[in-house]
Amino acid sequence: MAKDSHKETNTKDKSRRSPALALLLVLLIAAAFFMLSDVSFIKSARDAVMQKFGYESVDTETEEPDNGGGTIETPGKGGSDDGVIGGLDAGALPEYNGQHYIKVNGNVPEFPDEVYERAGLIKDGDSWKTNGNLMGTVDSNKLTPYEYYGSLDSLGRCTGAYGCLGEETMPEEGVERGDISSVHPSGWAKAQNWERCHLIAWALSAENANPSNLITGTHYLNYDGMRPLEEEVEHYIWETGNHVLYMAVPWFSGDELVARGVQMTAWSIEDKGEGISFNVYCFNVTPNAEIDYKTGIVTTEEQASQEARLYVVNKRSRVFHYPTCEGAQSISPHNREEVTATRVELTSQGYTPCGACEP
Ligand SMILES: [Zn+2]
Repeated sequence: MAKDSHKETNTKDKSRRSPALALLLVLLIAAAFFMLSDVSFIKSARDAVMQKFGYESVDTETEEPDNGGGTIETPGKGGSDDGVIGGLDAGALPEYNGQHYIKVNGNVPEFPDEVYERAGLIKDGDSWKTNGNLMGTVDSNKLTPYEYYGSLDSLGRCTGAYGCLGEETMPEEGVERGDISSVHPSGWAKAQNWERCHLIAWALSAENANPSNLITGTHYLNYDGMRPLEEEVEHYIWETGNHVLYMAVPWFSGDELVARGVQMTAWSIEDKGEGISFNVYCFNVTPNAEIDYKTGIVTTEEQASQEARLYVVNKRSRVFHYPTCEGAQSISPHNREEVTATRVELTSQGYTPCGACEP
């Protein structure tokens, strides 16, 4: 006993002697905990810090968007009030890297509480169940199939759609898809090869010309990005008769009129995600084309090569160069001319491109 108290006094003395050292030790332990912790709120804080230093955190939770992008009430907000929103941030949307889509939040679906609640599910700890069921099981008959389409925002942009999809929401067999050409979604520009892209596919919702469900999308987004996932859900429902919680949110950057991408989240209810479970962000791009997301004007690589620019031509040899070409600089002033034209215009006038600078 006496020994113990002696020890204690000793320790106290030591820490009093070097408070700076003790403080450093505490800070080091805290820093290590911060970097290695698996606790979710510490993880998201860490991700926020990493992001400030320029690290992409596509698979992690980020802060609530600060502008119009992706806003049905609280899209993807997994029932918490911590400002975490579906793993995406309108201020720092992921850059296209050659893949049709990327996983968000580690591919783990997150929905706002109302998405579950409208389906007739009630919260049971961390999971959801149908009313009156034991052990968190789900009774198909107690689910409420529904679709919800967020109204357009002040810029006329879609804000997102969600629902509890099942055979009940799908088109009846033999029913043909209707005409949707009357809808001109935000950013729709003529003759740019845009497609009217359903947030919730017709095959899942039987929704035709619903302006809250159609965005300006590329073929690449519509057919290569979203369609395989939509078909996965469609086939699952036909095969099982089960229901799928589903959410599609277009993400806009600032006040742009064309979405940068669409976040698709789906989770099969009866088998608790065993059949269907994803949370992805599909890119609204066309590889090798530049999209002006403010106006909807698309410029392909080919078109870019057809844009007028400055060339130097040799009137005698009828060869044209980039102005920076050595060959262009050595043309005698008598034969030299600067012209602003497209490549096609020059070749159609009988000019040939220089073999060195390959204009
Ligand atoms: Zn040249």
